Amino acid sequence: MAYGGIDERKIEEIVSRVLERLGGSVTSAPARGGAGPIEAPKSKANVPRGTNGVYQDADSAAKAARRAFEQNERAPIATRVKMVENMRKAVLANNDALSRYAVEETGLGRYEDKLSKNKLVAEKTPGCEILRTVAMTGDNGLMLTERAPYGVMLAITPTTNPTETILNNAIGMVAAGNAVVFNTHPSAAQVCNWCVHLLNEAIQSAGGPRDVITSVERPTIESANALMKHPLVRIVVVTGGPAVVKQAMNSGKKAITAGPGNPPAVVDETANLEKGADAIVRGASLDNNIVCIAEKEVIAVAAIADRLIEQLKRKPVLWLEQRQVRELERVILEGDHVNKNWVGKDAGLIAKAMGIGGHGHDLRLIMCEVDEQHPFVQHELLMPVLPLFRVRDAAEAIAAAVRVEHGFHHTATMQSTNIDNMSAMARVCNCSIFVKNDASYAGLGLGGEGYTSFTIASPTGEGMTTAVHFTRERRCTLKEAFRFV
Ligand code: NAD
Repeated sequence: MAYGGIDERKIEEIVSRVLERLGGSVTSAPARGGAGPIEAPKSKANVPRGTNGVYQDADSAAKAARRAFEQNERAPIATRVKMVENMRKAVLANNDALSRYAVEETGLGRYEDKLSKNKLVAEKTPGCEILRTVAMTGDNGLMLTERAPYGVMLAITPTTNPTETILNNAIGMVAAGNAVVFNTHPSAAQVCNWCVHLLNEAIQSAGGPRDVITSVERPTIESANALMKHPLVRIVVVTGGPAVVKQAMNSGKKAITAGPGNPPAVVDETANLEKGADAIVRGASLDNNIVCIAEKEVIAVAAIADRLIEQLKRKPVLWLEQRQVRELERVILEGDHVNKNWVGKDAGLIAKAMGIGGHGHDLRLIMCEVDEQHPFVQHELLMPVLPLFRVRDAAEAIAAAVRVEHGFHHTATMQSTNIDNMSAMARVCNCSIFVKNDASYAGLGLGGEGYTSFTIASPTGEGMTTAVHFTRERRCTLKEAFRFV
């Protein structure tokens, strides 16, 4: 096809020359999926080996993704829509195995909760429909704004929501017309590679090219850093703790960073305590509290604190006496730091390590009362341990919530029926997600309104990321035409 005298081949030649200058001509490289001999994974989890889109090294994964992007650019929008639809179906069809393998490989979280999280992502991650063309007309003619892909995106993903983040990022990035290279967490690499494999199969069955989604078979910090600097990678999206956020900010590329949180749950004197206790336990125990948005400490107004504790004790919660708090410290802290061995483990196992037997998988949380400065409050524990501290009134509770959230601006919740208190906290907590009168996960759209995202970018300000954030805005102006009224 020719555009004003320049044909498509000419355009491709120009693109190739520019890419060569950038450090990697890929247009004419042979398509090669699966990347040669890959050693069988060694792990106690017997995860199927992912090969479709899985590459041995970062450079091959980036080049394959670039080839796929170039092929995909010519695909009709209807194909892109079908690709996304098939990706959703692939995860729903394999949800049972993906959830089981994720728990087995990472040793974190709860199978039944991973089922809900994967289902949520498959069903409520926005696709192509969220990308809207904007048209403005006037005496001067027409202006159109469309959302264009970047090209190859890098996504660095966590161990805590391994397949959820892959699917969520992949849907948004592919819906936006990009290709993506995943550098996953080393402790979740097998299940993530298999997820990448399934998503590629889904894309190909919709008529899309191979390698729209690629991954590094054995990801490391070095491969992450190599990809952040790779000339074919246009934009870096990271979901993880403070170290990777900092690294992405220093990459010299545009970065979308989703970092840690420490979500407070405020309960004021007007709250419905029965409902509030139920919401807090559901939210804080989701996937053994490894989810970044999950309630990490309860701040109770003194007038209702004892009654709230009574309600919490009616739930599948082990409430500790003061003397038992020391035992819990001994198990889950190393000095002032979190003992990472207990991250994401069942509450029943933590109780057993404290010398409290008789609790199985049904126990959702261990709770206790401490003061604001206690390490259980100050640290993002990422385990089913939820401290509570009391304060004089709602104003003090809101101020304490801001303090213990440490300026992450991530997530906060409140149980209240007082509109003034809710408005005040909404204003000052300044978080990407603020949930009132339900579990924190309502803010992800799980039992709450709205779409979902598993990359909640607070440091760079995008909040609940979607395909929109994975596009560039481009404008076309036409003078003196197409204003037809
Ligand atoms: P992590 O920071 O250990 O790892 C996340 C990813 O970053 C992994 O792929 C890891 O290999 C990589 N990584 C870590 N340090 C790096 C470095 N210096 N350079 C390059 N890459 C690096 O986090 P995790 O344990 O997998 O996940 C838990 C953390 O992520 C928690 O702090 C949680 O709050 C946060 N998180 C945030 C969101 C969000 O949407 N904001 C979502 C999930 C998890």
